[in-house]
Amino acid sequence: MSGTETIAKGAQQPGRPRQQAIAIGGIEVAPGKRAVVDLPVTDLSTHTPMTMPIQVVHGRSAGPRLFVCAALHGDEINGVEVIRRLLRLSALKRLRGTLIAVPIVNVLGFVSQSRYLPDRRDLNRSFPGSPRGSLTARLARIFIDEVVGKSTHGIDLHTGAIHRENFPQVRGNLDDPETERLARAFGVPVVINTGFRQGSLREAAAQRAVPVIVYEAGEALRFDEACIRAGVKGIVRVMRQLEMLPPSQRPKKERRSLIIRSSKWVRAPQSGLLRSTTALGSQVQQGDLLGVIGDPFGEKVMEVCSPADGVVIGRCNLPLAHEGDALFHIARHEGTQVVARSLDAFEPEAEYEVGLTSELTDDPPIV
Ligand SMILES: [Zn+2]
Repeated sequence: MSGTETIAKGAQQPGRPRQQAIAIGGIEVAPGKRAVVDLPVTDLSTHTPMTMPIQVVHGRSAGPRLFVCAALHGDEINGVEVIRRLLRLSALKRLRGTLIAVPIVNVLGFVSQSRYLPDRRDLNRSFPGSPRGSLTARLARIFIDEVVGKSTHGIDLHTGAIHRENFPQVRGNLDDPETERLARAFGVPVVINTGFRQGSLREAAAQRAVPVIVYEAGEALRFDEACIRAGVKGIVRVMRQLEMLPPSQRPKKERRSLIIRSSKWVRAPQSGLLRSTTALGSQVQQGDLLGVIGDPFGEKVMEVCSPADGVVIGRCNLPLAHEGDALFHIARHEGTQVVARSLDAFEPEAEYEVGLTSELTDDPPIV
């Protein structure tokens, strides 16, 4: 779509607070309208203007204002597809509150397939930014002012770095009850309780009292159907939890997430070629073999073993390793039965739910 479109005709829902217009990037979106805002970011050296595309879906009734953003790291593209599918849902016609969808935050990194901006800074270490700082700091500040500052909640979509794949997981500061509510509602088996990294979007949003969860799944520069589906379904569950979307007609399935408080990267004990023998999402015990690393002649072979009981939530998919490279990310836990239950209940490949996300099945799955 381009321009503004009406999402719902007629009066606002009775008994709901009256919705006001919302202005993003100087564009005013009236209640019951859906609009694309091209937020000016900077000019390229070619004189071409660069903008950040935002779609605002502004319900007729007032309610939570949720931003969902992706590609803060320009090469983490799974979330872009999650947002494309989310925006196709016809249930958004009955949205309460506001959805601010930003599929590509780091527009400059995205076009150059890079995690970073052209000034080689990491956007997710540059919040809250400054209008007089580096290019990255300026972009961070625009996002804070125009998106985070207009929202009550947020979901930030990421993947592993290049050649690193993450098992679908949610991260957030669970010491904050509202963040915990979002993290549990998302419904993936692993939830990691993490503090704030300095300069991250999560930290800057928390300072403005906007709870944000991060969904991490898949690998940079790749689409992963299971991770995309789990992402769409997770966001819909959060929106239902916030009563932005009508509740599911189907009986509620119990989804228990495993809350992880500590994790550890297992590093290569020597340089060589890694033959990984443990799949992402596997449950492992201390001392279990994760893979072997050896030279091209099959000599000097060393085993790589798990230092703790846990779940493999991240893995390096590149077999070429230098000594010290991070190979496997283990989420530590005690209590293997809880883990087994939460992993068993997770069916990322499963069909979309009847009645809401089922309409997305017209799209052939990405294989
Ligand atoms: Zn990232």
